Amino acid sequence: MAWGGGWGGGGAMFGGTSASNGLPFGGIPSELMTEATKLLASEPAHAPSNLTFTQRPSEKEHERLTLPQLLRAYPRWVVSGSLLVIIISLILQGGPLLTELAINKGMVKHHHSLAVIAICGLLYLALAFASALLQRVQVSVTGKLAARVMHDLRIRVFTHFQRLSLDFFTEEKAGVLMSRMTSDIENLQQLVQDGISQFAMQGLTMVVITAVLFTINVTLAAWTVLLVVPLLFALTVWFHRASEKGYLLSRDRIANVLADLSESLYGIRVVTANNRQRRNIRNHRHVVGAYRDANLYTGRVNAIYGPATITIGILGQGLLLGIGGHMVLEGQLNLGELVAFFLYLNRFFGPIQLLVQQYNALQQGRSSIIRLRELLEIPPAVDEVADAPDLPTIDGRITFENVSFGYHPDHLVLHDVNLEIAPGESVAFVGPTGAGKSTMAKLANRFYDPTSGRVLLDGVDIRTVTLRSLRSQLGVVPQEPFLFAGSIRTNLGFGRTNITNDEIEEAIDVVGLRELVERLPDGVDTIVHERGQTLSAGERQLLALARAFLARPRVLILDEATSSLDLHSETVIEKALDRLLEGRSAILIAHRLTTAQRADRIVVVDHGGVVEVGTPKELLRAGGPYAVMYNAWLQSGGRDSTRADVASDDA
Ligand code: ADP
Repeated sequence: MAWGGGWGGGGAMFGGTSASNGLPFGGIPSELMTEATKLLASEPAHAPSNLTFTQRPSEKEHERLTLPQLLRAYPRWVVSGSLLVIIISLILQGGPLLTELAINKGMVKHHHSLAVIAICGLLYLALAFASALLQRVQVSVTGKLAARVMHDLRIRVFTHFQRLSLDFFTEEKAGVLMSRMTSDIENLQQLVQDGISQFAMQGLTMVVITAVLFTINVTLAAWTVLLVVPLLFALTVWFHRASEKGYLLSRDRIANVLADLSESLYGIRVVTANNRQRRNIRNHRHVVGAYRDANLYTGRVNAIYGPATITIGILGQGLLLGIGGHMVLEGQLNLGELVAFFLYLNRFFGPIQLLVQQYNALQQGRSSIIRLRELLEIPPAVDEVADAPDLPTIDGRITFENVSFGYHPDHLVLHDVNLEIAPGESVAFVGPTGAGKSTMAKLANRFYDPTSGRVLLDGVDIRTVTLRSLRSQLGVVPQEPFLFAGSIRTNLGFGRTNITNDEIEEAIDVVGLRELVERLPDGVDTIVHERGQTLSAGERQLLALARAFLARPRVLILDEATSSLDLHSETVIEKALDRLLEGRSAILIAHRLTTAQRADRIVVVDHGGVVEVGTPKELLRAGGPYAVMYNAWLQSGGRDSTRADVASDDA
């Protein structure tokens, strides 16, 4: 399986070179075979993926997203990482104790001993080595943990995207979603990789130091803690508040900067056409200025906090010198202990500053996880009932039964729609923009469920069957066909696996793509979309039709392209449509009356309801809304420029 996939992909790539040499592609060229075999032998074999996708999220995916929940999947890594952090925090604090030992047992009067000093020095070195080594292991453990956790999270979010309704992915949201997948996940990665272990290590260091100070000398430790800690605490609380305020401020303001930037970039044509550049710059200067002010504020806060902690540290040392020196004279403390105190006090301040610095990272990680959680908790627009059966192969009867629907429950856009489409019948929806044509098509495809009423296929309520079986029998050709980076062949085969060469060739002939394929350098293996091999709107439309043809759906839902095509393309597309519709039921959202005229029946939609149904002839004879639309169209010249939906607006 894995090999098949691998070769297939390679084939498409190699195809370019061999075909341009005039050789048909027939596998790996012999001169590359030895290299390829070597490569395959050294490559890790990827197990064939037995990925399953279900519309209903699994139990695990239903769980609330929290950091512990993410970490729980890797208990061994979490435990070993935590143990390492604890051991390292302990080892790192051995140095001052050794110094104390070296002074008291090797340097002071009556206790001169080079051996003790040497042993302490060597032990000091050994500790340094050990901690370096352990830190290396710890960083690699947390790095691996972070990589795995984030990998899982990325897949979980992406899978969730696949379940959400299509309208969720409007363009402006795509930007937000991208930032969830990039910056938010990166924030979390940073947190798991560095933030948490740093935080734990610094916190532990402070605990260890306090404990050691008290074991050395309770009185002096109590003095130190009493004098230094309250000051430090007050300062830190102030800083915490101020920096939080600064953080929120700069976050909001950078969001404004980015919003303004993207709007100006995307709208650059409109900006230029309306001579808005100057106003644009003024506006941007304003938002960038606000962001600068937020940064200046943060800078001022940092400028107070950093030096102030250092000053408190120095004051603490001064007090220690006075009180500790006095205690030495009184014989309550020895010299080694005093030096150890000094060393530990110095080490006490580093963690506090680091903790405060890490705080922003923690904060960011926390809001990232909240945002991701909110995203994961958005329910899909449609859900499968538990143990839903598959929809059996249908003839293609589509029924709308008293269907009402609103995107928001209190604002209905379809009102009590009743419609029946017979198997094999093609029906064109016409009507003004915003009438509800696309909405009806979306309900037939179950992108949404009706607010009341039912949509049936061959008499089966489509809410009761699996989405997979439903959609495999429905073909959708969107207004603006999307081409994926890849060859024409892979783009055509998108709706199905195991498509044969003959089928591809047939589809190309049926929709009239032959001419195009012959013109392209590598035929059906030409890469489209990527690397600038762009196709015209008409050609893309034809590719989408061929894709639908290959998927062999029982029912076709087609949203006609609104962009006007040249006469030739339009004729080709009309022919392709005729072939595609043979024997299939179809809903055509018709933007041109020429298309509507070719359908078996026309449904005129207006204000969310069906106002007229009949064959083109019947409707023209009846002299109702469609006849009005049609006559207006004839008068305005009758061909391509007048679109069905616009014509009706005027009528
Ligand atoms: P048509 O296809 O006839 O142009 P639509 O079915 O697209 O009309 O739209 C019908 C109504 O539903 C319009 O008022 C439109 O604004 C509204 N609408 C369409 N899509 C959405 C959506 N995703 N969310 C909210 N309202 C929508």
